[in-house]
Amino acid sequence: EVGALVQSFNRMAAKLNEIEKQRDSTEQRRKDFIANISHELRTPLTAMKGFLEVLQEGFVKDPKLQQKYYNIMFRETEYLNQLVDDLMDLIKLEQKEISMHLKKVDIAEIIKVVSLQLNPTFIKRNNKLQSFTLEPLPYIIGDSLRIEQILTNIIHNANKFTSNGTITVKTKVQNDCLCVIVTDTGIGIPSHDLDRIWDRFFKVDRDRTKNGRGTGLGLAIVKELVKLHKGNIHVESKLGQGSTFTISFPIYNYDTLYNS
Ligand code: ADP
Repeated sequence: EVGALVQSFNRMAAKLNEIEKQRDSTEQRRKDFIANISHELRTPLTAMKGFLEVLQEGFVKDPKLQQKYYNIMFRETEYLNQLVDDLMDLIKLEQKEISMHLKKVDIAEIIKVVSLQLNPTFIKRNNKLQSFTLEPLPYIIGDSLRIEQILTNIIHNANKFTSNGTITVKTKVQNDCLCVIVTDTGIGIPSHDLDRIWDRFFKVDRDRTKNGRGTGLGLAIVKELVKLHKGNIHVESKLGQGSTFTISFPIYNYDTLYNS
């Protein structure tokens, strides 16, 4: 009897230990998150303050240099805006406060809209965007604005990490899913970083890219949004050759929408 008691006591102690560990790691994650946010906010603010000071004091006489500083400050402001938007999304996703308006969605239409919107940024980086969407394309179940956000993010990244190249968007039907495949001929991702690109604030190269700098939150948000669609996303990439992101969504079926 004593043996059984000791055994169940040990089991209980192990369980408590496990709970404590879990709590510690959640707490640690929260602390890391806040430290990251502070860092991401402070860096552009410090830079802006520095430029403002030298401009305000009249130390910079050369109008060209003044213009350069204004441009940098403008970019930093844009970055801060994006950071706030991304953080709001992430926090809402975490607290399950994102409301999804699920209905049948024509993904070909969304691909067209996103391509059109991103066209000027493609021209800027001398990239070509090709899209081949199957017709007719089966409907999928989803929130069209959120799907637009997912595709904008992935296609925008493809453009950001490519120059003088081609970005291809294709669709494919596989089992009960519709896949959107975005391929670029850009810089690629080192294989040891492939798992980490989904982490918050992770950036392969922490320096700015030529096309402005990212928050490192985009893919963390995309991953959560894809999950809310009961979909899947994965990446294949070769350093120096390019990357392919494949996103799959469940195909629309009347029964799944109205009987679940
Ligand atoms: P960011 O705002 O930095 O783009 P993301 O979360 O969207 O943040 O992406 C995280 C990191 O993954 C990027 O900083 C980049 O290093 C890498 N990455 C994402 N997409 C691509 C791509 N198409 N080609 C190369 N690297 C990419």
